[in-house]
Amino acid sequence: MDFERINSFLESYVTDDSGRLGEIYEDAEKRGVPVIRRNTKELLRLLILIAAPKRILEVGTAVGYSALFMDSVMRNVNGNNETGYVHKDSCEIVTIELDEARADEAEANFDECLGGERNIKLLRGDAYEVMKSMTAEEYGVFDMVFIDAAKAQYGNYLEEAMRLTRKGSVIICDNILAGGEILESHYLVEKRDRTIHDRMRSFLRELKKDERLDTALLSVGDGMSVSIRV
Ligand code: SAH
Ligand code: MG
Repeated sequence: MDFERINSFLESYVTDDSGRLGEIYEDAEKRGVPVIRRNTKELLRLLILIAAPKRILEVGTAVGYSALFMDSVMRNVNGNNETGYVHKDSCEIVTIELDEARADEAEANFDECLGGERNIKLLRGDAYEVMKSMTAEEYGVFDMVFIDAAKAQYGNYLEEAMRLTRKGSVIICDNILAGGEILESHYLVEKRDRTIHDRMRSFLRELKKDERLDTALLSVGDGMSVSIRV
């Protein structure tokens, strides 16, 4: 069975977001700006509803779609409590982006969608460097980390994520299948992609072996790993 066809088939059942969020997604797809796949959104939403994180760290903002999506999920559950948040006293997202133009666009999207109630904080710079500079005193502990930036850096991001989380925190990595390329042998992959290919393979091996975590490797979207700190 063709993986892309299966993915598209399942994605045809997903309802797109309404309003500005839906526009941001469509616009990003049109312009070739990376955004999470529709199937990825499905799993991410359910994981947020199950884990009910109060604080999420995202690595790789692009134009802010996934951060706004996660925020919308956190806001719309338990609509019967006072604020409409998963947690009564609201939720927070910290997200990191290297590309200046994308970061500017994300800021504008956050302002437009959230106005005065900005609970998403954008940090600019190389994600690994930014993460290393983050302290638990300043940023608190994260209940969920969504890793979606430079693929060759996932091992580094994971170590920093460990430092910034607690037992029970959920760590998710996107694009672990790299468009299917991860299945190919080292030599069949274009030379410039070989380092990423090899690093992603060893990252997955290490991730599964890591006794600090319990991890499932999934073929959802472009491939996702879901781990819980044990
Ligand atoms: N999470 C976003 C998509 C992120 S795409 C969404 O679904 O809406 C990956 C992003 O990571 C890109 O915008 C890219 O500029 C950024 N990125 C790549 N290398 C990075 C690095 N070293 N540090 C921080 N961000 C990086
Ligand atoms: Mg992604």
